[in-house]
Amino acid sequence: MIQLQELTKRYGNKVILDGVTETIETGEFFVILGPSGAGKSTLLKILAGIEKLDKGKIIVDGKDITNLPPEKRNVAMVFQNYALYPNMTVYDNIAFPLKMKRMTKDEIQKRVERVAKLLGITDILKMNVTKISGGQQQRVALARAIVREPSFYLLDEPLSNLDARVRFVARGELKRIQKELNGTFIYVTHDQKEAMSLADRIAVLHNGKFEQVGTPTELYEYP
Ligand code: ADP
Ligand code: ADP
Repeated sequence: MIQLQELTKRYGNKVILDGVTETIETGEFFVILGPSGAGKSTLLKILAGIEKLDKGKIIVDGKDITNLPPEKRNVAMVFQNYALYPNMTVYDNIAFPLKMKRMTKDEIQKRVERVAKLLGITDILKMNVTKISGGQQQRVALARAIVREPSFYLLDEPLSNLDARVRFVARGELKRIQKELNGTFIYVTHDQKEAMSLADRIAVLHNGKFEQVGTPTELYEYP
């Protein structure tokens, strides 16, 4: 469970977040929806620990992580411009964060193979990442995040670089993977359709606050 308590952030005298408060359940696919400039990326960066809060608290499973540095938060972030290491194989891209943790080769191989299977990329593990499609690259980026077994995931418009047809398939895949992991996903988008097809709950970020929070049905399907 992730508790956001009165999260407040300004840049100069511009208020970006004005007391964002919400509880996100473990295993929930939580989508933050809002137009460009609403402060969505800022909020994710704050959760990742790469941007500082002015005020407020972040509590994860009862533990206050507000002042922890990024590497101590056990959180994975997936961006739109997922930077894969271009001169490495798919396998080595996924294995990289585990090598940084000095995990044994056997353990690394076990984890990489398990994640590759989950994402359907076992066949391309030996390929150079520059030789695979955009959709496959996106899976590799996700695999690299999943392999660390983080306590929650932050996804910043991760599908927006894919063409429409691939994006449609990728949404279904992402949802399946999230359920299979029972992962807590906090997913940012400006696309209402995307939010509706993915979310357990949607929070609409407006004027620095979650203006509405609810299931897609509660928010967008009127009786
Ligand atoms: P979104 O992700 O919803 O598009 P952002 O969080 O990227 O919104 O940005 C919210 C607002 O904060 C924008 O007006 C943006 O220009 C501003 N902003 C973002 N980062 C900085 C920064 N480092 N310094 C000053 N202003 C920033
Ligand atoms: P290192 O490069 O650190 O010596 P290993 O000896 O574990 O790593 O493996 C050598 C290379 O073989 C790895 O860098 C990786 O590219 C590849 N490799 C290892 N296991 C697999 C696997 N299950 N599928 C595909 N490629 C693999």
